[in-house]
Amino acid sequence: MHEMSIAEGILDIALDTMRQNNGIIIHSVQLDLGLMSGVEPDALLFCWDAVVKGTAAEGSKIDIHTIPITGQCLDCDAVFDVQNYAFICPHCESKYINTIGGRELQVTSIDID
Ligand SMILES: [Zn+2]
Repeated sequence: MHEMSIAEGILDIALDTMRQNNGIIIHSVQLDLGLMSGVEPDALLFCWDAVVKGTAAEGSKIDIHTIPITGQCLDCDAVFDVQNYAFICPHCESKYINTIGGRELQVTSIDID
């Protein structure tokens, strides 16, 4: 379950940010998570509750903002949201699609006191 190491990485970022801002407690972390990031949101939330125990982030939550998969057609340059992992251009039905979004895994903001 690699979500555990991801949760630890997010916690490191949150604690570093808190110290840099002379904070003492982390309330919540906002996270952009692409549908193709390979991270299970439920598993990540579960791991988060485990890794924050005994830290300044204990009891905090992660707000996950899901980022859709975005594809760009290599034939007609159309940019579109990929639905149901169907990598087919909705304009020209080409199967030559470049994935340009959906792999995000990024902390966007942290609520600290
Ligand atoms: Zn196309």
